[in-house]
Amino acid sequence: MEAIQTTRLKTRPACPVCRMKLDGATGFGKPEPDSLTVCVYCGVFLSFTPTMDLRVLADREWTELSRETQDQLTNYLNLTRGFRHGQE
Ligand SMILES: [Zn+2]
Repeated sequence: MEAIQTTRLKTRPACPVCRMKLDGATGFGKPEPDSLTVCVYCGVFLSFTPTMDLRVLADREWTELSRETQDQLTNYLNLTRGFRHGQE
């Protein structure tokens, strides 16, 4: 199983929900179209588009993920909650 890792992004895509620019992507390996990540600012699950912009992961797509992947992303989301509280 691949560990979640954070990769620096050159493109700095903006979160479609909170409009914050993300300079790091957390997911499985190198970000590429359809890679999954989490917005550390507002805590939504995101997916990369073919042009490496970000879009919100649809509920249907979430349910199609493996249980293991869902658990890893949920754990990461919990970690980013601590990050956000540190910013307040
Ligand atoms: Zn966001």
